[in-house]
Amino acid sequence: MVNIQAIRGMHDILPEQTPLWQYAEKIIRDVLGSYGYSEIRLPAVEKTELFKRSIGEVTDIVEKEMYTFEDRNGDSLTLRPEGTAGCLRACLEHGLLHNQVHRLWYYGAMYRHERPQKGRYRQFYQLGVETYGMASADIDAELLLLTDRLWKRLGIREKVRLQLNSLGKIAERLVYRDALVAYFEQHLEVLDEDSLRRLKTNPLRILDTKNPAMADVVKNAPELMAYLGDDSKQHFQTILDTLTDLGVSFEINTRLVRGLDYYSKTVFEWVTNELGSQGTICAGGRYDGLIEQLGGKANFAVGFAMGMERLLLLLETLDLKIENNVDVYLIRVGEQAEKIGLRLAEQLRTEIPTLRVQIDCAGGSIKSQFKKADKSGAKFALILGEDEAARGEIGLKSLRDSQFEQQTLALNDVVKFLSN
Ligand code: ATP
Ligand code: MG
Repeated sequence: MVNIQAIRGMHDILPEQTPLWQYAEKIIRDVLGSYGYSEIRLPAVEKTELFKRSIGEVTDIVEKEMYTFEDRNGDSLTLRPEGTAGCLRACLEHGLLHNQVHRLWYYGAMYRHERPQKGRYRQFYQLGVETYGMASADIDAELLLLTDRLWKRLGIREKVRLQLNSLGKIAERLVYRDALVAYFEQHLEVLDEDSLRRLKTNPLRILDTKNPAMADVVKNAPELMAYLGDDSKQHFQTILDTLTDLGVSFEINTRLVRGLDYYSKTVFEWVTNELGSQGTICAGGRYDGLIEQLGGKANFAVGFAMGMERLLLLLETLDLKIENNVDVYLIRVGEQAEKIGLRLAEQLRTEIPTLRVQIDCAGGSIKSQFKKADKSGAKFALILGEDEAARGEIGLKSLRDSQFEQQTLALNDVVKFLSN
């Protein structure tokens, strides 16, 4: 038989890894809950047009990263490369944006056809947070306070830095764009192939280049900040003041432009030095213009997305001991013991719903079952051999505490013992 393997860049998350994922997911849900955010669940597939119209035709995602295919009826569909477009599509479709404010989050797999490497995959999980209907800089700040709190709860605040910039309004950015193009046109010989292409399509992205040969020319480029109007400047300043007030440290990075077309005013990234070049674990900003672009009425929107795999890579550096062990492992030998044991395990689960009980269903000698009990990580082994079963008793052994003497309990006393 041919061995069929997973698709390149699409990973299995194995049982030994899921406890850490669940640990992170629970803290994320708790923190989102403490700010009053609600979950929304969205399809993994959308019409291709949605992404072209929202993300922008000349972005990396739409130009070369999307998984697009034709449905059997001829429609062009795409596996979602991100969640912002789908979330907004859903809210528009269900009329959620009429005179309402929303604080939403979603969680799930995203798909991009990129070159797989550490921290960059073709299927990856994102937590997305989107807010609608709020113009105030307080909501931009709230998202930063929320993420700051999240890093603290996860114990990684020391490992990440907040970088902030303002892209201003679209009109302000257009004026800047012209100035930037004029500047780069004087330095064509330094620009690499990617940048020459972007000069025509998305010149701001040139500022994002990782090419060291272009570092100087980028460093001396005009700064967008100088092109912002009063309203944009004030909005940005309010965010900075709030962060300073509440003790959240940040860096202003005037080269931060983000890949997507739809941002206006605030953009931010939480970055780390510990993951090589895939150092952005969370990124977002304000995208007021996108709602109209998708056919809605003018409105306000701010959000971010967090890459779960990169977050998990950071958590792995902490060496947390997070396991998903059972509490009790029940060993049964002999037909009568198997019957009684199964009934006892069910009784335990009924009477102590939080207790995690596993019975040995694979059989074998007491010795081999003990080995499995030990491997299960359980605190206690319950041993039901033929003799114990006949007497209505059961053996109890601690698998973790060598001081604890093995003892024999009446079957009726097991619930009482394990309740404490
Ligand atoms: P990058 O610059 O790393 O390509 P991006 O600008 O494409 O990131 P966004 O579209 O803003 O990223 O997505 C938000 C977050 O999702 C990123 O900061 C990152 O943590 C995560 N992410 C993006 N693409 C991938 C991927 N291919 N594999 C794993 N995580 C990813
Ligand atoms: Mg990318």
